[in-house]
Amino acid sequence: MSRRPTGWHFLQLPGPTNVPRRVLDAMAQPTVDHRGPGFPELTREVLDGLRWVFGTRHGVVVYPGSGHGGWEAALVNTLSPGDRVLMFETGQFGLGWTEVARRFGLDVEVIPGDWRRGADPSVLEERLSADREHAIRAVAVVHNETSTGAVSRVPDLRAALDRAGHPALLLVDAVSSLACLEYRHDDWGVDVTVSASQKGLMLPPGLAFNAMGPRALDASRGASLPRAHWDWTPMLERTEDGYFPYTPATNLLFGLKEALTMLRAEGLDDVVRRHRRHGDATRAAVQVWGLEVQCARHDEQSDVLTAVRLPDGHDADRFRALVRERFNLTLGSGLGKLKGRVFRIGHLGHFNDLMLLGTLGGVESGLALAGVPCRRGGVQAAMESLESSL
Ligand code: PLP
Repeated sequence: MSRRPTGWHFLQLPGPTNVPRRVLDAMAQPTVDHRGPGFPELTREVLDGLRWVFGTRHGVVVYPGSGHGGWEAALVNTLSPGDRVLMFETGQFGLGWTEVARRFGLDVEVIPGDWRRGADPSVLEERLSADREHAIRAVAVVHNETSTGAVSRVPDLRAALDRAGHPALLLVDAVSSLACLEYRHDDWGVDVTVSASQKGLMLPPGLAFNAMGPRALDASRGASLPRAHWDWTPMLERTEDGYFPYTPATNLLFGLKEALTMLRAEGLDDVVRRHRRHGDATRAAVQVWGLEVQCARHDEQSDVLTAVRLPDGHDADRFRALVRERFNLTLGSGLGKLKGRVFRIGHLGHFNDLMLLGTLGGVESGLALAGVPCRRGGVQAAMESLESSL
């Protein structure tokens, strides 16, 4: 049989995600003058929409850039050389952020982890309580660790900071949780939230975001790490009038406006519920297959993606290559030390029940064709899970 791909390509990475036709069409408009009279209306609309998604009444900035830029912006705007930052090894992205912090000469303290759970609030409380001089200036955590599918419980981490009576800033990476999982920047007492366009916001890669609360803004006045492109101040000043200090990614902003319209029409609670249903159904399938989910704590398993461990002796990258070739289905690879050990099913963004069932069908058939020892019936279990929560 010919292996030339026909029909839909299933892009089931945990980002970049499928981009809705409406968003693609919105971006396929002639680029406009970003210094022209019509631009402020677009800026205001996207900033209002972003504030709503982040759950904040305060400042939000939009950069042309990727999540890495958002990480860098959060650090350089709030910290000074040599400042101590407490970070968590939740997985590859937790470690990635520590690497950026190190390169800026921050004094990075990493709480080690086994890549099978989120950041532990009791460990945070203990460490902060021991820091009587308040040498730790910031705690940085990844909300949804995309390399493992483990969620850190941000409200519990905030409570740990409060119980320890510690003034460190709380910096949260919501790159793969925003517009997927419940997220409340203000209510949860987060000081800086980092995010990007290519996940729950259903856009192509290319935009990075920071949301910052009043304590973070205060900190930015005294912070002395070098900053230019990522400096919040000109961004906040210029966008107040609806303009940007440098050329924005205009057509991505057209797409963002459309994506925000779609999210508003669905409602954030329903967006979260939709992701939960798809997370539950995927886990039901994995359980029937008899395979193991990478995140070992049930209450921290992500509704954004599921990282599935393959038994010893089975290479997850070979399996991924097989499903790509046979079924035109792209799954996420294992990152860092999980390379070849796990594959990741993205179930986020522009997605529905049948897209999930198609994806799981490809995975189940692929497992059989790859000779991975597992039971059939995972797709059936996912169907039943979805039917039970219609
Ligand atoms: N943080 C998380 C949780 C991510 O999933 C990613 C990318 O997937 C990043 C940060 C880095 O973002 P980018 O690749 O857009 O720089």
